Amino acid sequence: MPRVDVALKGEFDNSYEILVEDGVMDNLIPDLCSRKFGRTPVVICDENTRELFGLSLIEKLALENIDPLLLTVPAGEKSKSLDVFGSLLEAMLEAGITRQDVVVALGGGVVGDLSGYVAGSYMRGINFIQVPTTLLSQVDSAVGGKVAVNISGGKNYCGMFYQPKRVYSDISALSTLPEREILSGLGEVVKYGFIADRKFAEYLLDNADKILSLDKEVMSAVVARCCEIKADVVSRDEKEGGLRRILNYGHTVGHAIETFSGYKLSHGECVAHGMRIVARACNRAGMLSDSDLKLHQNVMDRLSLATGGLNIRPADIMELMKRDKKVKDGSVVMVALDKVGHAVISDDFPLEIIEAELNEMY
Ligand code: NAD
Ligand code: MG
Repeated sequence: MPRVDVALKGEFDNSYEILVEDGVMDNLIPDLCSRKFGRTPVVICDENTRELFGLSLIEKLALENIDPLLLTVPAGEKSKSLDVFGSLLEAMLEAGITRQDVVVALGGGVVGDLSGYVAGSYMRGINFIQVPTTLLSQVDSAVGGKVAVNISGGKNYCGMFYQPKRVYSDISALSTLPEREILSGLGEVVKYGFIADRKFAEYLLDNADKILSLDKEVMSAVVARCCEIKADVVSRDEKEGGLRRILNYGHTVGHAIETFSGYKLSHGECVAHGMRIVARACNRAGMLSDSDLKLHQNVMDRLSLATGGLNIRPADIMELMKRDKKVKDGSVVMVALDKVGHAVISDDFPLEIIEAELNEMY
């Protein structure tokens, strides 16, 4: 089975492994029965993952005489709130959960971010394992230890770095995901190829059909490679000093598009558009060769990423970017590409090049 080790040997040893396979969720049963991560499991789901995976997990555990606490939150971003966070803590206390128990996050990035913050805070921190069930959570949010909820002033403004003890990424879980959620995750998948691994970008191009049909073998390899790349970046920069910023490729422009759309477009779609724009701007700036731009475009085209039009006003996108603290004196601090497979942080990328690109494209 593909296994990715996340080596985090800073002040404390926070290392853990990510298991990626079709059906790996079944490994939870013996692992929870052995109590190696804790005594009583606190399984946190949203309404959808409760029906899809939570109830059957509870049944299987009951056969082994394990009686977990199952907590369910509404599906969607609104559950990443201090209210929901507080109510989960209260429910755990009421049920007599102690520091010897273990939180199991069973769901997408919303459940993972929320449950991780609950685990990190309850009685100053109890064990936590992640069972990510969306493509985005398998390749992104379940790796790296950032956990958080939103406050009215901003997304993810209340949280911590808190690493899980293990991650179980079950490829078969992806089969029930709506297409939009798959494309949202694929945006992050191609990002890893673009910033860190040209061969992987070429692999995505060559295997696009199998990826879009969720071929289990190919998807296991894809998820594992994304986790390896993110784990490698994170292990060299656990608390986001510098290098970790390359993971934000496409995100500066993407966020402006996301805000412009009033959050009607998904984060993944906006980042996908952001990557297309930035790659063209890097080419216009003379950093990225024509043939590499072509490869970048082919990968995105074959995976149907940001292929539709975008109803934006370039001037508004520029205004939104200028409000960002990363902008000064006509330039922006941005992740740029000098090759497919190699990202650099540009401290002074000219805004006029992005503007010219936006005007040409939209
Ligand atoms: P999500 O958790 O809301 O899941 C999307 C939808 O899919 C939900 O309705 C969910 O119920 C449903 N779902 C989950 N698994 C399913 C399955 N197997 N089959 C069918 N439906 C399923 O969203 P997401 O895209 O997984 O995650 C987005 C969140 O992740 C955001 O809050 C974002 O801030 C966060 N995030 C965190 C990090 C990090 O480093 N911690 C990184 C990226 C994103
Ligand atoms: Mg992202």
